[in-house]
Amino acid sequence: MIFLDNAGTTKMFSECVTTYSHFACEEFYNPSAVSRKSAFVHAKLEEVRRDCLKKLGALKGTVIFTGGATESNNLAIKGAVKNDDYEYVFSNGEHPSVFNIARSLENDGKVVRFVGLDKNGKVNLDELENMLNKRTKLISCMLVSNETGAINDVKKIVALRNELAPNALVHIDAVQGFMKIPFSVEDLGVDMLSFSAHKFHGPKGVGGLYVRSLQLIKNIIDGGGQEYGLRSGTENVPGVMAMQTALLKIDVKENFKNVSRLKQIFNDIVATENGIKILDFHGSPYIEVLLFSGVKGETMLHALEENGVIVGLGSACSAKKAGNRILENIGYSKEEIISSCRISFNAYMNESEVKEAGKIIIETYREMLKRLN
Ligand code: PLP
Repeated sequence: MIFLDNAGTTKMFSECVTTYSHFACEEFYNPSAVSRKSAFVHAKLEEVRRDCLKKLGALKGTVIFTGGATESNNLAIKGAVKNDDYEYVFSNGEHPSVFNIARSLENDGKVVRFVGLDKNGKVNLDELENMLNKRTKLISCMLVSNETGAINDVKKIVALRNELAPNALVHIDAVQGFMKIPFSVEDLGVDMLSFSAHKFHGPKGVGGLYVRSLQLIKNIIDGGGQEYGLRSGTENVPGVMAMQTALLKIDVKENFKNVSRLKQIFNDIVATENGIKILDFHGSPYIEVLLFSGVKGETMLHALEENGVIVGLGSACSAKKAGNRILENIGYSKEEIISSCRISFNAYMNESEVKEAGKIIIETYREMLKRLN
């Protein structure tokens, strides 16, 4: 099976399984207890925190370990909400773990503004500029779109915040960017950033929230006060340690180069078929969208799986729902959206796999067209 749904999740490195097992069965101690064994585990967690900060290019701030990016996004946004008369800005391209919080804030009577996407799938900066003011408390958008691979101009968003909304925090959901595209939080200038280990070959259910300062947000769950009081509950030590193994194994720049090359090889093959259109948003090389003229994306997905290739239909959380809010927002028609599949690569695939996948996609498309006509 050739797996081309790596934006949905990735296969965990076998080294992570070894680490996981060690910290689940050997060094299984509670990092908050007082024994020397516990102090050792606590120190190991602190080491991972430092490694995360290093990989994020952070010179200040810390990382709060969470149960994945959905939780990180909830902590960042709900933790920043104030009772006063503030405004909250989100993009229309957000993952449900951000978008649905925005909707519920709106239902709670908060002033929530949604910025549209431009034709390149990026946050529309002109629209954003018109929405920001001194009452803006938070701007939350993603770094890389999980649906299209488009990369937002976060530096420009931060510059607009600095100029027009000095009281606002900038949070980015960097799930599809962290450990995939080179960036640093210092260069971007963001206040908070969410990430998730299972998107970079670590375990599922583990992630983190970078915060420039612990004072920026309040906790959203009460308990024993772990993670500087911002995320109570015993840390998932085996998961965090396994995430470190993935962090230390990955060479972001090398992988970026490799995936760019693999994507080009794949696209050169797929582009030879008339009815298949590649939507390349010139963003992350890890993600792109294919449109299959005259065949539903969902039909292609099932037929492809039969033929040995797994692709995606956009975010797993939205895949079962009709339509695609993000492509719709960019301006694609219903027909185009229905005919779309998401293709997402990982850096450890080889050339022959992507060539084979390209050929199978073309053959399957022809097969489906024949069946439908
Ligand atoms: N944000 C984005 C952009 C994602 O792609 C995903 C996963 O699909 C999430 C958030 C949620 O991450 P997790 O599965 O770690 O909760």
